[in-house]
Amino acid sequence: MSSDLYREQILDHYRHPRNYGTLEDADISHEDHNPLCGDQVRFEVRLDDGGRVVQAAFTGRGCAISQATASMLTEAVQGKTLDDIKAMDQQTVLGLLGISLSPVRLKCALLPLKVLQAGIYRYESDKAGR
Ligand code: ZN
Repeated sequence: MSSDLYREQILDHYRHPRNYGTLEDADISHEDHNPLCGDQVRFEVRLDDGGRVVQAAFTGRGCAISQATASMLTEAVQGKTLDDIKAMDQQTVLGLLGISLSPVRLKCALLPLKVLQAGIYRYESDKAGR
């Protein structure tokens, strides 16, 4: 895809966010913000018995990059294990977006993944402590 198409896709996710909302019986929920830009993202994830993501949802507000990335991530994590998601990094996010970003915008793009991974680590430590 050309970068124009990627840009269009980002705007489409921003205007029509996928899986926007909250889950009744989420196993993982976590939120955080990016003070540099004012972006806020909350992620909720429901797991099946095998520990794979069956449903992911987000709510939030902020710039197009942060909200579009969150929307894209709710689709990208479907069927993934928590280890798969913990292995996602900057390259994964940039691969979803398909455009290069300034350092400030990169923080916006990485916020949703940071929130998701922090939620996973908290879920796992809660589980280990039980
Ligand atoms: Zn932002």
